[in-house]
Order: sequence, then structure tokens, then C-alpha cells
Amino acid sequence: MRIGCHLTITKGLDKAAAFAAGIGANTFQYFTRNPRGGAARRIGPEEIGRWRRSREEHDIYPVVGHLPYTVNLAATGGRPGDFAAMVVEEDLQRVGELEGEILVSHPGHYEADRETALRQITSLLEKSLELDVPNRPVLCLETMALQSREIGSLEDLGYILRALGFPAALGVCLDSAHLFAAGWDLRTRAGCDRLVDRLEAEVGLERVKCMHLNDSLVPMGSRKDRHAVLGRGELGETGISAIIVHPFLGRLPLLLETPVDKYEDYGPQLAFARSLVGEGSLA
Ligand SMILES: [Zn+2]
Repeated sequence: MRIGCHLTITKGLDKAAAFAAGIGANTFQYFTRNPRGGAARRIGPEEIGRWRRSREEHDIYPVVGHLPYTVNLAATGGRPGDFAAMVVEEDLQRVGELEGEILVSHPGHYEADRETALRQITSLLEKSLELDVPNRPVLCLETMALQSREIGSLEDLGYILRALGFPAALGVCLDSAHLFAAGWDLRTRAGCDRLVDRLEAEVGLERVKCMHLNDSLVPMGSRKDRHAVLGRGELGETGISAIIVHPFLGRLPLLLETPVDKYEDYGPQLAFARSLVGEGSLA
């Protein structure tokens, strides 16, 4: 299976690949810039060269960039709108330079109403499709817990992709904790099947590129975004197991974003997930 976690790349991308391998990960996600601010570290050609070699040595695939939380793709005009357009353009280029396969973004939240927000996101993404991006990563919109004015139900993502004709440059990133909080019961095979059926109808399964594998601190349908350690939340061992043995969901690249004190703590959770499908730890 392809499973990894969110890591920092502040000490260098090549070091992140070696670190990932050391804790038993064969994929990872990183923030393309400061998650709460927006400043970006410049990554030079030497680091990219070391990164290519390290990534190959450690068999890391795919590599997933995540946009900062401060980006609101639904922001209309003014500075927040300009910032969102600028970050999408720059970070598609930056992830492409590293030959990263996926760039994940939260869809955003609405200010006036949902319709206007969905049209704004669609128009921003339409412009992004016209950009010339070497090694273009697939820009994936994430499914959200739907707290307050959040965009990110399957229907929202379906609306956006449909309006743009389901281009190959756009995709969907699932999040098991968000989906559960939004009302999807993923604790059984039947529940996972219902989700996959709806995904097929709304966005098409070939557009679903990865999943954030998180347990949920809050009950099903509570519409709050609170992640828990795998097996210790409301999804529990039964739920996490149902997801990762599922013939579609379990074959997606899985990325943990569960609460940890230090990145090494992902190691035992990765081993736990692998044990549920009868795989030994890679670490
Ligand atoms: Zn996210």
C-alpha cells in the first residue's frame, strides 16, 4: 500500500524523503508555504537534484503539496482573491519543479452565498488551467467537514468539476475525518461503498487521487474538523480498517494528518495501518 503522512521540508526535501522512509512511509505531504502565513521558502536547483536522487532511492510516490490554510479560493476580488490566484499559480509551478504529482487545496468558504462562491472557485480554476506549468501536478480539492460556511461537499466538488468538463488537471482529495464529520459513515463496508457510489456519480472515480487518512475526535455528522490518532477516535480501529481494506479507498495514496508531538510518532500509526491489511512495517 501507499501510505505516508504530513512532514516538514524545512530541513530540505531530500532529508524529508529519507525521514519518510525511516518511519515506514512511501509517500508524503508537505506545506508549499507557511500554513498560516503564506511566505514561501525558495528551493534551489541543487536541492532539487539531491531530492530527485533521494526520492528514487527511497521509492517515494506520490509527493503531495498542500496549500496554506489562509488561501480561500472562493474569495471574491480584493486582496484575499488576488492572494488565492497568486498562490495557486506560484505553487502549481513550485510543485511542478519538484516533480510532485499532486497539489491539494481546501476549496474555501463563502462570504455572501454558496452559489457565488462555487462560481468564483470555478472561475479561478478555469484560469489556472490556462497556465503553462511544466510537470503540472493535479490540483485536488479536498472534501471538508462542512463547518459553518465551508465549501467541500461531494456535490460542491461535483458542481465545480462538471462546470469545467472534468479536466485531467483537476482532482479530488478525500479526508476520512472530514467525510465522517460531514455525515458519511465509513465504519462499515456498506458505508464505504455508499461513499464510492456517490463519488462515481459526482466527480468520477478517476478524478479521486488521494486520501487524508485521519481518525475523527468528533462524532459522525458533527460538522467539526478535529483529527484523532488512527484507531483512537470515533472511526476507531473498525472504521480505519473498513476504509483501508476497501478495494477502491484502500488503493488510494493515504496520508496521515493526525495529531503528533513529533513527526517520528507517525511511525507506529503507519505500522498499525499496515498491520490492518496484513503488511509488515517498512521501517
Ligand atoms: Zn487539508
